[in-house]
Amino acid sequence: MDLIPHLIDGRETESRSAARFPTVDPWTREPWAEVALGGAEEADAAVTAARRAFDEGPWPRMGFAERGAILHRLADLIDEHRDELALADTTDMGKPIADSTAKDVPRSALNFRFFADHARLSAGDALPMDSGHHAYSRFEAAGVVAAIAPWNFPLMLETWKIAPALAWGNTVVLKPAEDTPASAAILARLALAAGMPPGVLNVVNGFGPDSAGAALTADPRVDRITFTGESGTGRTIARAAAAHLTPVSLELGGKGANLVFADADLASAVDWSIKAIYSNAGQVCLAGSRLYVQREVYAEFLARFTAAAEALVIGDPKDRATQLGPLASEEHYRKVRSYLEGVQADGGTIATGGLGDGWTVRPTVITDAPPTARVCQEEIFGPVVVITPFDTEAEAVAAANGTPYGLNAMVFTENLSRAHRVAAALKAGTVWANCFFVRDLRAPFGGVGDSGVGREGGNFSREFFTEPKAVVMAI
Ligand code: NAD
Repeated sequence: MDLIPHLIDGRETESRSAARFPTVDPWTREPWAEVALGGAEEADAAVTAARRAFDEGPWPRMGFAERGAILHRLADLIDEHRDELALADTTDMGKPIADSTAKDVPRSALNFRFFADHARLSAGDALPMDSGHHAYSRFEAAGVVAAIAPWNFPLMLETWKIAPALAWGNTVVLKPAEDTPASAAILARLALAAGMPPGVLNVVNGFGPDSAGAALTADPRVDRITFTGESGTGRTIARAAAAHLTPVSLELGGKGANLVFADADLASAVDWSIKAIYSNAGQVCLAGSRLYVQREVYAEFLARFTAAAEALVIGDPKDRATQLGPLASEEHYRKVRSYLEGVQADGGTIATGGLGDGWTVRPTVITDAPPTARVCQEEIFGPVVVITPFDTEAEAVAAANGTPYGLNAMVFTENLSRAHRVAAALKAGTVWANCFFVRDLRAPFGGVGDSGVGREGGNFSREFFTEPKAVVMAI
């Protein structure tokens, strides 16, 4: 069986203890590779390498153009290895190969291109002052960045963190999610091939608590922690970071509300709403897992939505025709199953869907659930949507804002004023009007409330991954 190693200081290594753990293909439900199991020792070695590469190495001292050229070469290599990277994520977590090939991998390459260029073009501001002084800003690399990633978009979310961190001259230790280590190992290899000096990008595999993840967040030599994952884990990481006042960026869970008004283009609203909840088998922080539909069109919307949900192709994620694969792991399948088992007791009805074969869950629609039901309040992270009718705009906004989360929301309406009004009233880091998942990497990305702390993207990533400095000159 293949071994997925750590990559520390430019070398592929096992742990000194030779400890390993299996990574499981959720479609076959069999281990498909072994992974070097890192702990405190490997985290320490990786931070030491990253520290040295930052304090003594060429990376932070290169110009933006030279560093950017390496990041562009890495992006080209990602494109060239698209099929290998896509297969790694699909085998590790069961996402349809059509998605990992056409969406995740190209977006990962784009992350490097975008942030390489963004850093070069936004390296500082000049502020001539009325007093005759001249102030300017410098964005200086923060140092060593610990990046801790989830399993739902492995390569794409890792590169969303690594690309801006590297573009601004930091060095990085990445800990991929334990369920999805494969693509990070390939990425680290490609980074070396692109000309990145050893120690600039290190990858340590392992778990969170009492393992590599916790060791990284406790290390005082780490200057930034960027984390994407569950809100509960975010709290643990914030506590660990507080010990050394290490700045943290937390991109956490969501319970996205999706508001469909009677004046919406219904065909388009159904189409986007299906994508919003069933893409990646609902394992999307941004999933539109709560659908609120104005009563005049509720019955028609429900009929069309249910028909579209039932038409989705479930199957082997390596088959290009598959639209919905298995859930990422047995543990996660059990979690989603427990929500479905609790629906009736909470007063809801499963209108369509339910459990499928193996670790698959069929596209599921729940109706009649009261707002306090667990399925309306908690992040299920599976292909399960709750659909509820509403009468007025105020009622819809109040319902949408009625969870502790605030990552994103969607509004479907042909009324321009309503779209702006509702977007302003929604408690969310991102609002999509008449679309979903369309991203501009310059825009702020992050969440309100339990959905996160801080924003990344464009200048927001710059502010997090650098120490902005003001220099004021008397002239
Ligand atoms: P998770 O919190 O279980 O794990 C995420 C990562 O944190 C893993 O690498 C894990 O090993 C590590 N970890 C766990 N405990 C740790 C600890 N004590 N110290 C250090 N590291 C620790 O999350 P998950 O199940 O992998 O991912 C799913 C979650 O991620 C969902 O809640 C989803 O909404 C969220 N998510 C958010 C965004 C966003 O941008 N806001 C994007 C994708 C996923």
